[in-house]
Parts: sequence; C-alpha cells; structure tokens
Amino acid sequence: MSESLTTVAYLGATLLFILSLGGLSHPETARRGNLYGMIGMAIAVLATVLGPHVTSAGIPWIIGAMVAGGAIGLYAARTVQMTQMPELVALMHSLVGLAAALVGYASYIDPAASSHITGAEKAIHEIEIYVGILIGVITFSGSLIAFGKLSARIGGKPLLLPGRHFLNLAGLLIVIYFGVQFLRAESIQAGMTPLIVMTVIAFLFGIHMVMAIGGADMPVVVSMLNSYSGWAAAATGFMLNNDLLIVTGALVGSSGAILSYIMCRAMNRNFISVIAGGFGTGGGKPAAAKGEAQPAGEVVSVSAVETAELLREAKNVIIVPGYGMAVAQAQHTVYEITQHLREKGVNVRFGIHPVAGRMPGHMNVLLAEAKVPYDIVMEMDEINEDFPDTDVAMVIGANDIVNPSAAEDPTSPIAGMPVLEVWKAKTSIVMKRSMASGYAGVDNPLFYKENNRMLFGDAKKMLDEVLVALKGS
Ligand code: NDP
Repeated sequence: MSESLTTVAYLGATLLFILSLGGLSHPETARRGNLYGMIGMAIAVLATVLGPHVTSAGIPWIIGAMVAGGAIGLYAARTVQMTQMPELVALMHSLVGLAAALVGYASYIDPAASSHITGAEKAIHEIEIYVGILIGVITFSGSLIAFGKLSARIGGKPLLLPGRHFLNLAGLLIVIYFGVQFLRAESIQAGMTPLIVMTVIAFLFGIHMVMAIGGADMPVVVSMLNSYSGWAAAATGFMLNNDLLIVTGALVGSSGAILSYIMCRAMNRNFISVIAGGFGTGGGKPAAAKGEAQPAGEVVSVSAVETAELLREAKNVIIVPGYGMAVAQAQHTVYEITQHLREKGVNVRFGIHPVAGRMPGHMNVLLAEAKVPYDIVMEMDEINEDFPDTDVAMVIGANDIVNPSAAEDPTSPIAGMPVLEVWKAKTSIVMKRSMASGYAGVDNPLFYKENNRMLFGDAKKMLDEVLVALKGS
C-alpha cells in the first residue's frame, strides 16, 4: 500500500472515530457509534499493517500478536460482568500505558529511528520519548492499582503517607533533573541511566497517586487514567510519526478528561480534591458505627404485595434505578412491571442520575438491554422537579444518588452532590437488602422519612413478587 493511500485510509479512520464518539453520546445511536468505531479501527490496523513502514518479514509477527491479543480481549469481554466493566477498562489502560512506554524505549534504542536527525529535531524526538515513557509508566502502574482497588484485591481505603505532597514534588523535580541529563547524553548508553531512573520514579508515582485516592473516587480515576492513556498514545504517535495515532490519542485524551469532569460535577467533587485523595472506603458498610451521628426515626417496611398495591393506585410513578438493580440483574422484571403499569394507564418514567451504578451510562445500558423505551428514560435534571407531583417514587437498589443529606446536611461527606429528590414524592419505596450504606459509605436519612417505605430483599426476587402480585390482581 502506498504512502498516499495509507494517508487517505487514516483520514477515513479519523472521521469514523469522530462519528463513533458522536454516536456514543446517545443510547439510540450508541450501537451505530460502536460500529463506526469498529470499522475505523479495522481500517486503521489494515492500513498500518499493509502500509509502507511494515516489511513483509514483520507481518507474521503482527498476525501472531493480533491473534493472541484478540483472543485474550474477546475472552475478557465475553466473560466480564457488567458491574466489573470499570476493572476491565482499568486493566486495558494499564496495557496502553505499558505499550507506550515500550515503544518509547524501542524508538530510543533503535538507531534507525534517530540516526538521521540532529539538533533541535533530535531534541524534540527525545523529549517525545521521555514524556511518552513518563505518561505511559504512570498510566501503567496507576491503572494496575485502580484495577486492584476496584476488584477489591487492594483495600479501598486511601493510603495517605506523611508529607505525600512533598514526596510528589520531589519526584517531579527529580524527573525534570534527569530529563535534562537525558537530553544532554552523548550516547544511547549514557541516556539509558536517566531514562531508567525516571521510569522507576514514574512507576512509584503512579502507585502512590492512585493508592492515595479513596474507593469512592476510583471510577473517576479510571476515567482520568483513560485520558492519560490517550495522551500516552498521542505521544507514541509523535515518536512513530504516525498522524492517526496522534489524532486518536488526542480524541481519547480529551474525551476522558471531559468525562472525568462530568463525573466530578455529578458527585460535587472537584478534580483537585479527587487527586488529593482521601474520600470513600469503597463498598457498602453497615450504617453508622457507634458514636457517629445516626439518622433518627423509624423504618417502615412493606411487603411486595403492599408495594404492588401502592403502584396500582398511583397515576404517576418514577423509577430510580441504581447499582443494586445492576447487581440483581433486575432490569427485565423492571421492564415487565413498567409495561404492565403503562397498560393500566399509569404514567411510568425513569430518573437516571449521572453517576448511578458504577460507570456513566450504566443504567441507560441496562434499561436499553431490557428494551425500556428511551422516551421514558429521563436525565436527573429533566425529572427532578416532577417528584412533588409523583405518587410513587420507586428506588431500586440505589442509595447515594437519592440521599437527602447531600441537599440538607452541609456536614455530610456528600454535601452538595446533586441527587434525585425522591422524598418529595407522595410515597417513596426503597428496595434493597438491608440498611447498609451505599458506595460512599454514608448513612441515608431517606430510609427514616415518614413517607418512605422499605422493601427489603434482593431486587430481582422482590420485583418478581411485585409483578406476580400486580398480575394477580
Ligand atoms: P450505591 O452504591 O449508593 O447503593 C447501591 C445499593 O444497592 C446499596 O446500598 C445496596 O444496599 C443495594 N444493593 C446491592 N445489591 C443489591 C441487590 N442484589 N438487590 C437490591 N439492592 C442491592 O449505588 P447508587 O447507584 O445509588 O450510587 C452510585 C454510587 O457510586 C455513588 O456513590 C457514586 O458517586 C458512585 N460512583 C459512581 C460512578 C458512576 O460513574 N456511575 C462513578 C464514581 C462513583 P444493600 O446492601 O442493603 O442491598
């Protein structure tokens, strides 16, 4: 394949990637977006493998690597549970980081890559290598720790070393110092020492940075590492003189950064405080321990039959799904209940919090899978004002995203986080298995409100019972 044909193919792939990102912004077009992405990637890989920079001797190696990598990827994607998706993504980012770092080393060691350049051009090439390896290694070790935390192999508690900000600052200064040594190195051998020292520091920094961040912020960190992996890929593109890699890396880098920002806003956190760390323990824990302030009042529990009764008598129902619906895989029963109520003339809609579940869009994907019509699935901002006119707000396996203390208690760790105001409905019903707290480990006064009812049990099992009761009446 000639150079110009490769360029045209790269241009086509770039367009497809942009269309893909556009498509992924809405559930209705997400499938098409995915398809564009797949076609774009296929074109990109083919154009690269058949392009002028790959010799025929290299092709069997590339095919071997693609078969091995493709098989592992296919197996991982098929076996992963939806709720484990952030872990898988974190693991994949670690590989992007590792690849960027290895490409950096390879293009430094390879005499053919730089022997023909001198002066400023050589310096720029070496800066690309140094920065590419730096970002790549931070992404690699940081993503591995994020994977460990998300999969509970490492505790969610933030590790806060004394003087950690100074440690980070010292690391940065050492990296800059050795960067200068690297650029001044007379030979490849001489340049290797500063490069290796920087790699070790970047590796430790990645670990330290993510260890200091609490479990509750981990998905934001995954999105941030996603952004880093994009920039690492862009740096690789500069090293290899590959325009497509630069553009694709920049697309991933900027979309990851935007997503992190959206997630932070939805949790009322700011980027700096996420990086500064120390929030959340990762995973539900029993409601407030002795001595801590506990929400006062009584909890009124209801049965599935009583829940069916309340739903049947309602005119307006808003369903708020959360992480528990995903765990219980209750979306199909939710759909059947919705169908049944709609046939009886009840106005049923869904209220989706931007960080419901464990990744952005988690609930939308599950509801789309269960064939819930898109036009009754509303974003939080679209529906929050409607709760006072709602008869029943049904909370299915959600907790933090409906916690009134975010709005009412300025001392709460989640104070200021926008939440779905289900307590303003005539009656709210919360379906969960116990009184345990949600992901942020914060007590929820909603459970004790006078107009709130608790339906205890696994979401799928209880909804099945509600459906039977609804159909039986
Ligand atoms: P939460 O983690 O706050 O609450 C989920 C609740 O589901 C738990 O309290 C649990 O209670 C219940 N549950 C678990 N399993 C089941 C089951 N089988 N049946 C019924 N209930 C079950 O989830 P939310 O969706 O309300 O909030 C998401 C949280 O994740 C927020 O804190 C958010 O900030 C955080 N987060 C989300 C991100 C995202 O992108 N979506 C990103 C970053 C953070 P019990 O054990 O009693 O059953």
